[in-house]
Amino acid sequence: MGSSKKYRCYLKKLLLVITYSLLSISIIKSIYKINAVSSVQTVDGIIVPIIMYHQVKDSGLGNDVISPSEFESDLKYLKDNNYNTITMAQLIDYVYNKKDLPQNPVILAFDDGYLSTYLNVYQLLKEYNMKIVLSIIGKSVDEFSKVKDENIEYSHVTWDEVKEMQESGLVEMQNHSYGLHKISKIRYGCGQMANITIIWKI
Ligand SMILES: [Zn+2]
Repeated sequence: MGSSKKYRCYLKKLLLVITYSLLSISIIKSIYKINAVSSVQTVDGIIVPIIMYHQVKDSGLGNDVISPSEFESDLKYLKDNNYNTITMAQLIDYVYNKKDLPQNPVILAFDDGYLSTYLNVYQLLKEYNMKIVLSIIGKSVDEFSKVKDENIEYSHVTWDEVKEMQESGLVEMQNHSYGLHKISKIRYGCGQMANITIIWKI
C-alpha cells in the first residue's frame, strides 16, 4: 500500500474511533432515562465512549465530584451491560497496530491524580476488575510525595501510590503535564484567563 493511501487509511480509522466524554453515567442516565453509553461497531472501526472523572469522595459533591457509591453504581452498570474497560495503550494499539479490542470497550478517564483516586477508586477497581486511565500532574505528585499531607479534599497521589496502582495493571498512568495545569493568574487547566496573552520564551 502506498504511503499516502496508508495515511488515508489510518486517518479514516482514527476518525471512526470517535470518542466522547460524559461526566457521570448516572447523571446522564437520570436525565435521558436511556442507556447512557454505547460502543458502536461500524464497518471499519468502533466508537469508544470516554467517561471523564475527577474526584470521588463524599464531600463537595457536584460538577466534577461524585461519591464512591455513585462511582460504584457506574461500575455495576458497566458490568451488568457487558462493557469492558480499556486503556489508552489498547486504543492506540487498535488504531495503529491492528490489535483487537474487547467487545463494548469503554475508557474511564480520571483527570489530575487526586488522592481520592487511590483511596476510593482503586479498591473498587480491584473488586470489579476494571481499569481506569489516570492522568497525573507531575509537579503535584512531586509535591505530595515530599510532604505527608493526606487530605481527601485536595491532596494528590504520591509516586509510591502511582507505582502501586500502575503495577496492579488496573490503572494506566497518562500525562497531564508536569507543571502547566495551574499557572497562577494566567490559566487553570485548559482555561485561559480573559484578556491575557502569553508569550512563551524558549
Ligand atoms: Zn485537570
